[in-house]
Amino acid sequence: MADDIFHASSGTSLTDAENRRMYYGELFGADGKLVDLCLCTVSKKPESYTGEDTVEFHCHGSPVVLSEVLRALFSRGVRQAQAGEFTKRAFLNGRMDLTQAEAVIDLIESESAAAAQNAVGQLCGAVSIRLESVYSILLDIIAHFHAVIDYPDEDIDEFDMQSYLPALRGVETELKHMLSTHKRGSVLRGGIPTVITGRPNTGKSSLLNALLGYSRAIVTEVAGTTRDTIEEKALVGGVLLRLIDTAGYRKTKDIVEMHGVERTLSALHDAGLVILVLDGSEPLKDEDYDALRSIPPGVPMIVVVNKSDLPSVLGTDELIGLGLDYYRISALNGEGLDIVDAEIRKLFPELLTPPSGELITNARQAEAISRACDSICLALAAITMSVTPDAVLTDIEATLATIGEVTGKTMHEDVISRIFERFCVGK
Ligand code: GDP
Repeated sequence: MADDIFHASSGTSLTDAENRRMYYGELFGADGKLVDLCLCTVSKKPESYTGEDTVEFHCHGSPVVLSEVLRALFSRGVRQAQAGEFTKRAFLNGRMDLTQAEAVIDLIESESAAAAQNAVGQLCGAVSIRLESVYSILLDIIAHFHAVIDYPDEDIDEFDMQSYLPALRGVETELKHMLSTHKRGSVLRGGIPTVITGRPNTGKSSLLNALLGYSRAIVTEVAGTTRDTIEEKALVGGVLLRLIDTAGYRKTKDIVEMHGVERTLSALHDAGLVILVLDGSEPLKDEDYDALRSIPPGVPMIVVVNKSDLPSVLGTDELIGLGLDYYRISALNGEGLDIVDAEIRKLFPELLTPPSGELITNARQAEAISRACDSICLALAAITMSVTPDAVLTDIEATLATIGEVTGKTMHEDVISRIFERFCVGK
């Protein structure tokens, strides 16, 4: 079909094309008219992305040209790929496992250099390699047990579950370690939930807009303009933040604003970072203290004293008395924002150093690893209570099956379909 519409200048037919070599030539539309001068590559199985014979056309990017090329192909019986179909085929043909397939989507969707670095590490098999070694240890134990039972006459070493205790403990440690990276992994992928709080009119929305680099939130001198929380992602100092501009904190009788304040408190509860905005052009007010008190203890916090372009009124001695480090900024003219960038880099260095596939970013994988942890713990507890080997083995087999779910060794068709539905067409 591809041969029908593409004529290489060299005269080579695509059926005889050299594997993975680019050919220059003419591409003809459904009606036989010349559509484009382009490049074509044939990748032969099993070395292509999907593991099947693949033809790629590299055309000029005009939508008109591209739809003409598609029309020409469709008229010859080619059909459009479904979302994620290429990667799904790659998985089904054993070109990659499920963690690598999921890394493809992570890589496409990555919003920071570190997230992309982690995703590409997983695409190279970082998760698979670790799970593969755990899988192999468990498989050895199960195989040994069954060999002894099934072939009693063979000269096989006696099965002693106790002797496998160190290996199983190693499996537990590895699984727990992998699971422990998920919190950082999900922050790396989705951004640190960062709440911008403070009493009304200190410049929270202005700060959000300044960090985003465009005007997202409405800024007015009327206190209480932001009544709902507004969320946007931004790279600040190279760290991906999920910035949440809140209504701020103040006692109010206005029912709409009260809801806003409730949402502020709920956002603060889930925050990974809080930016408290004070107004440097006014003295500290009770509402500033209320806002400070509403921040849960232990959450990393940056205090910014905004409006540094105006005469300074806020007494910094009070802030020092409260034990607060602060930075003078102006959301209006951008002064001091570079110091906020630097502070964020200092607070989250681990999100800047490329982790190269170390972090589990995928919730499906984390959930399965967590179940694997549970069943290996049960197995270990059963061994220490001297439960019979066959009963212990049930838990070891459950662990094995759950690890298989992560890599796709044991997987249901409907789960696989659900995973690839998230992909875009053409990947
Ligand atoms: P929010 O209620 O805390 O979100 O405050 P807004 O961002 O809506 O700002 C309240 C008022 O302060 C608006 O009139 C802003 O233009 C003004 N404002 C915000 N940041 C600055 C700043 O850095 N300098 C000056 N001079 N005014 C600012």
